[in-house]
Amino acid sequence: MRAITLRKPDDWHLHFRDGQMLNETVPATARCFARAIVMPNLVPPVVNAEQALRYKQRIMDARPAGSDFMPLMTLYLTDQTSVADIRAAVESGVSAVKLYPAGATTNSDAAVTGLTPLYPVFEEMAELGMPLLIHGEVTDLQTDIFDREKQFIDEHLAPLTQAVSGLKIVFEHITTADAADFVLSCSERVGATITPQHLMLDRNDLLVGGIRPHNYCLPILKRNTHKLRLQEVIKSGSSKFFLGTDSAPHTRSAKESPCGCAGCYSAWSAIELYAQIFDDLGALDKLEAFASEHGPRFYGLDMNSQRITLIEQDWVIPEHIKLWDGETIVPFYAGQTCRWKLQ
Ligand SMILES: [Zn+2]
Repeated sequence: MRAITLRKPDDWHLHFRDGQMLNETVPATARCFARAIVMPNLVPPVVNAEQALRYKQRIMDARPAGSDFMPLMTLYLTDQTSVADIRAAVESGVSAVKLYPAGATTNSDAAVTGLTPLYPVFEEMAELGMPLLIHGEVTDLQTDIFDREKQFIDEHLAPLTQAVSGLKIVFEHITTADAADFVLSCSERVGATITPQHLMLDRNDLLVGGIRPHNYCLPILKRNTHKLRLQEVIKSGSSKFFLGTDSAPHTRSAKESPCGCAGCYSAWSAIELYAQIFDDLGALDKLEAFASEHGPRFYGLDMNSQRITLIEQDWVIPEHIKLWDGETIVPFYAGQTCRWKLQ
């Protein structure tokens, strides 16, 4: 039986939600990750340091006994975010600021309507070394959903990287060859996270043979050639790409609906599925750097000193997870076999 031991990984893009849901999501992530960048798209969103610290405490309170899991907090950028908000966030230990174009995803209605007025805020972030995390899609209704990421690069991201060259940027959950190649063309200050679903699946897995709402996420799954390019860049070992699950729970009834929610809940199988992906690519030797080293190096944080071990052993991802109120979540890859198991 094969086994692999890694430096304990971190998840650089994650949705915990809030309230009772934390009792489900926090233990699921803390079982294998040491830290996670926690998205601020609550209702209402986390827009200042004080709210971020309160949210952090609620997450810490939901950790299993004995866990030293550490949430890394983010602020939700709005048209009103000020230079003073950024300074207060840095002083409070907030790790990053998240940019959602208005309407891009779950709870993004409060988000920014234009980037140029925020350039003074970005200059301050560059000065203080605070990274900007970007959901990189245009959201106008004229743009085809499959072209939104590419258009965002051309219209917004490329100009931003030119205008504020000192700003650290994480292009979140990239889904296209265009995004991968753009990140490779930028300086060391621009990196990207990649989810398990965008490495494993393409739009056929969403739409062929019947619509599969549990594979519906945003940015939407793209054509197969984009998935292959993402696989190539992680296989290359480039330090610009690191682990970010975008694990995002919605109840079964919210997903299986005439207007279903976007998001894949992958926390219960995340590191195992990444191991399977790297193994299938013949690149298991590149997993540790992607999962545990590139992220901390980009953020300027220490790497974790603990280790985890994965063994090659088949197990079936549960069909559903029961919540406190009788609702269920269908996890990502539900009912399917995963070949690697956390020991
Ligand atoms: Zn997300």
